Amino acid sequence: MNVIECWMEHPVRKLDTTFTYWTDEPAQSGCRVRLTLRNRSVIGFIDSVQESDETPDELSKRLGYTVRKADAVLDEVPLITPELRDLALWMREKTVSTAIACFQAMLPAKVKPAAGRSEAVRERYVKVSEEETKLTPKQLEAFLYVRDHDEVKYSDLRSKYPGQAKALVDKGALIAYEKEKTAESTVHTASQQPHTLNPYQQKIMDEIEQSDDPVFLLRGVTGSGKTEIYFHLARHVLDEGRQVLLLVPEIALTPQMIQRVYDRFGEDLAVYHSGLNPQEKYEQYRKVRTRQAKIVVGTRSAVFLPFHDLGLIVMDEEHDSSYKQDSQPAYHCRDAAIWRGAYHHARVILGSATPSLESYARGIRGVYHLLKLDHRVNDTLPKVTLVNMKEAVQRGESYILSETLRGKMEEVLANGRQVILLLNRRGYHARLSCRACQEVITCPHCDLAMSWHRESRSMKCHTCGTEIRVPRICPKCGSDSGFTAYGYGTQKLEEEVQMRFPGRKVLRMDADTTARKNGHEEILKAFGRHEADILLGTQMIAKGLDYPDVTLVGVLNGDDGLARTDFRSCETTFDLLMQAAGRSGRAQDHGEVVFQVYHPDHYAVSCAAQQDYESFFVNEMHFRHAGMYPPYTYMIAVTFSGMDPSRTEAAAMEFKRALSGNFKVIGVLQLLRINDRSRCRILLKGKDPQEMRTAVRKVLDQGIDSKVSVKVDVDPMTLD
Ligand code: ADP
Ligand code: ZN
Ligand code: ZN
Repeated sequence: MNVIECWMEHPVRKLDTTFTYWTDEPAQSGCRVRLTLRNRSVIGFIDSVQESDETPDELSKRLGYTVRKADAVLDEVPLITPELRDLALWMREKTVSTAIACFQAMLPAKVKPAAGRSEAVRERYVKVSEEETKLTPKQLEAFLYVRDHDEVKYSDLRSKYPGQAKALVDKGALIAYEKEKTAESTVHTASQQPHTLNPYQQKIMDEIEQSDDPVFLLRGVTGSGKTEIYFHLARHVLDEGRQVLLLVPEIALTPQMIQRVYDRFGEDLAVYHSGLNPQEKYEQYRKVRTRQAKIVVGTRSAVFLPFHDLGLIVMDEEHDSSYKQDSQPAYHCRDAAIWRGAYHHARVILGSATPSLESYARGIRGVYHLLKLDHRVNDTLPKVTLVNMKEAVQRGESYILSETLRGKMEEVLANGRQVILLLNRRGYHARLSCRACQEVITCPHCDLAMSWHRESRSMKCHTCGTEIRVPRICPKCGSDSGFTAYGYGTQKLEEEVQMRFPGRKVLRMDADTTARKNGHEEILKAFGRHEADILLGTQMIAKGLDYPDVTLVGVLNGDDGLARTDFRSCETTFDLLMQAAGRSGRAQDHGEVVFQVYHPDHYAVSCAAQQDYESFFVNEMHFRHAGMYPPYTYMIAVTFSGMDPSRTEAAAMEFKRALSGNFKVIGVLQLLRINDRSRCRILLKGKDPQEMRTAVRKVLDQGIDSKVSVKVDVDPMTLD
């Protein structure tokens, strides 16, 4: 028999250990098993297998407890390779989460170790049998058709030979069997020739190829030809017969990007992102596992696909927050990518116009091999104009479209070119406040202002999705004197643009217009075909678009983000402005950019206007140092939430008391209520991340109030 150590699918932290079972079925580490635990059927993973000559009774006697038989081993081939198992256990340490949560994060839903999941779709096929049977001429025709094709999908045969398919199977002339549905192959002839690298690109390329360093950080302004370098490196790696992983942020995985990869490479391609349904994800996963796919383009979780021989991992826009998972395990894709790169001896290239402060600091210290690409391929940087909105409004201009921006728009449109306007707020008005008591209307489930949406004539909470009618009387003071509206969103902007530019076609892209499947795609494609003159929207439009006809980009309320109290708000504001500027003038024409801001002198704004990352970095590092924020310290945020505010706070206090070590503990801090759950947080800051993680795990292992949930976020991206 086999003695197996198994991880359980179970949400309780106390069970974050392996359990011993026995089985007489063939078993390998990484296969799923069905087990009974306290009369409940659960799914687990086999961690290790040991053959034994003992009987189950002897084993139980020796161990001093009853070892039970596993109900069934579910896989013939392990789902978790030894590499992925090691990665999962490493991630468990790094993120202070449970092993099973890490295994689950790695696998597509169809094969997750979880009870109640749906099975992968199976399809029926037929092939010819050896049996001799008498056939009618029509049946013979169908029979020969199958023989010529080796195997045929049963549904295809039935539509081709409606009267014969079933009869042939019944007679035994054809054998029917089932197979898992597989993704279609995308092998094709590449239609696009690679560009010859310019000298700046070639220099970077040479430096990478001649170096033995494992991780590179490539900082290059948008349009400097980073993607082209990735493609050249990928070509070399593919020619060696190894696999390539190209990671992109959630929002940048546009049809444009996929098309670009598809056009360039003839190899079979797998695409892996959150927009796929579970079956589609599973098919892409299988494509990698069976070595069918040579290149994978994907978002965060693609970093866990079962590659055999990775030669290159590229992580584009490495600073993007979508690389960090929100829920447990709160891992960062960059860490997993570097881990896998080391395992496969594959180069890891982190690319960005605006690297995260943490990465750039590592680049400067030489932890990553730093590379800089400051020349745009077309050798022009867009011309940026700053408009101080405080002054513009004082001059009597519109608080939405300044005269400067309006004038430039008229010019560009008159030349038959296109305009992009970016406003990082959806809805019509940002908030309504009571004329009598000044109170803002907040969500009934969250302590957050609700936005007014003109299209639905309702108030919406952008955090939990609650939608209500505008109240007739103030919920706070009962007055019926009405409300004053503050702030504007994309719906109001659209109205303003249409009023100022009658006859021009305007497209709007935000969470309200892209809710339908492919809504996003349709809008971008229409704009790409020049079916509209102006595209306006939220930060969705800031990334990854490459439209030759766009020669003007306007950013409205560009420094709105500075009002947030997060330690990263300057960085994200700078990123947004830099990205937006990068959208303009991608082709031969000189591009123009207008930033409408209230704080033109803030370094996040002025450095973005100069497209000057280095100066921003120096300024921002001063700020981080003063506040003792990363990269000067490590942080772990532990967030508690529950329906009962006092119990939640008590659990947090208790947790804080139990924590000890050589680090600072800040809090307990009350956070805004979200989705009816009150929340609070403690923050650990220190120099020794290992010590901090161990301390947190120790307290977690002691267990906490079951009515309170805890989320541990190591190296949090934001503290909002
Ligand atoms: P980035 O990824 O840095 O934003 P891209 O690689 O997308 O830059 O390049 C910007 C544009 O320049 C693209 O349209 C690309 O096709 C083109 N391009 C890149 N490298 C070259 C080159 N060596 N010669 C000609 N065109 C190039
Ligand atoms: Zn009121
Ligand atoms: Zn809400």
